Amino acid sequence: MRADGVLADRFGRVATDLRVSLTDRCNLRCTYCMPEEGLAWMPREQQLTDDEVVRLIRVAVERLGVTEVRFTGGEPLIRRGLVTIVAAAAALEPRPKLSITTNGIGLERMAQPLRDAGLDRVNVSLDTLSASRFQQLTHRDRHADVLKGLAGAASAGLTPVKINTVLMRGINDDEAPALLQFALDHGYELRFIEQMPLDAQHKWDRHEMVTAAAILTSLERYGLLPDPVSRGTAPAETWLVPGYVDAAGQPARVGVIGSVTRPFCGDCDRTRLTADGQVRNCLFATGESDLRGLLRSGASDDEVADAWRAAMWGKKAGHGIDDPTFLQPARPMSAIGG
Ligand code: SAM
Repeated sequence: MRADGVLADRFGRVATDLRVSLTDRCNLRCTYCMPEEGLAWMPREQQLTDDEVVRLIRVAVERLGVTEVRFTGGEPLIRRGLVTIVAAAAALEPRPKLSITTNGIGLERMAQPLRDAGLDRVNVSLDTLSASRFQQLTHRDRHADVLKGLAGAASAGLTPVKINTVLMRGINDDEAPALLQFALDHGYELRFIEQMPLDAQHKWDRHEMVTAAAILTSLERYGLLPDPVSRGTAPAETWLVPGYVDAAGQPARVGVIGSVTRPFCGDCDRTRLTADGQVRNCLFATGESDLRGLLRSGASDDEVADAWRAAMWGKKAGHGIDDPTFLQPARPMSAIGG
């Protein structure tokens, strides 16, 4: 392991971006994520307390070199202590960048308190511009709330406001240009995410997924140009959209996260913490390392940091979706945190 104590692995990658899942519960039932009846939720006593979450974020920032923290879930806005957790993370030195991935329900009301607590930015998930399709896709009639959440985030200054979209063949893949136009018209940055084998129902089918190549073909009319800004460790490949600027007056961009067909594991800088205190070194990891047990048995910050380093050292070179031996992880996306 490296002497400087960062979250390194055997392939030379260093994790500086921490994804923290605050709950496995969600108020939507997106078909590619969760069954309509929901899942057996994590028992409360297994979930980290607010103080435990904050302690682990502090260890990550102060001892392990983490510079960015993204809150996710489940649906992070339904975590009661969210504003307190964000404020505590914002008070750390060096101050990490703070963002959240949310379905946007309730964001209209929460955006300003979150901004005041120190949140920098949001990603809001939106797969359709049609309220009736939204209901089919999520089994909930909350489309208008998501649109209000987006607007609330922009007016609270949680910018750039990014939109995450998953396209499914025959369901919403005809909406790629309309979703991009919506984002351009409102100054939001759109990211298409390839559908991954992380659904609780295990129904994902590679031959049915909408690929990055197909998404780009459907956006041909926009004459997208390669982004001159280097991608770095970002999961999204981005393109400039000629003729449009974003809310800050910069050239507008659109991104595609081709996790399946254009994997970016070689540049991965992420480490993940589940709501029950397990470190995952990859979305697709089949193993986890238990930090909650350490916290509750009185371990010191040094011991927790060492366990986290060891967990990351074992990270595989790639997610292996194309490997014939690939096994979908037991935890679905909602219990890992996207
Ligand atoms: N509830 C929040 C939300 O909707 O953004 C945060 C959690 S959700 C799991 C995070 C992101 O993962 C969302 O953008 C969602 O669309 C995406 N997602 C969920 N299941 C997915 C899958 N099987 N493949 C690709 N993306 C998925």
